[in-house]
Amino acid sequence: MCASTKKKLQDKLREALKELDQLDKRLQEKAEYGPGKGDPAIYEWELTLALRQQAQAKVETARRTLQRLAEGRYGICERCDAPINPERLEIIPLASLCIKCARASQR
Ligand SMILES: [Zn+2]
Repeated sequence: MCASTKKKLQDKLREALKELDQLDKRLQEKAEYGPGKGDPAIYEWELTLALRQQAQAKVETARRTLQRLAEGRYGICERCDAPINPERLEIIPLASLCIKCARASQR
């Protein structure tokens, strides 16, 4: 796969790491509120925590995708080994499943 793909994935990783960092900072600021009982900030705190988990997952996906690129397996479905539609990869560079498997896993 071409160098621009690698750059695109590295950008995604950087983006995700930045997001994670920002969420960590927000969680630290909110640490004094904590998950206290009846605290009005709890909802926001939990939301931030959920977003942090999503960002963490994105970082891991980006790292794994870069690893797959290095192994020459980028763009190949992790489940059925079918090539992933290039248009799908264009929209979702971190896609690890072909459209068929992605749909099946959402069920
Ligand atoms: Zn598949």
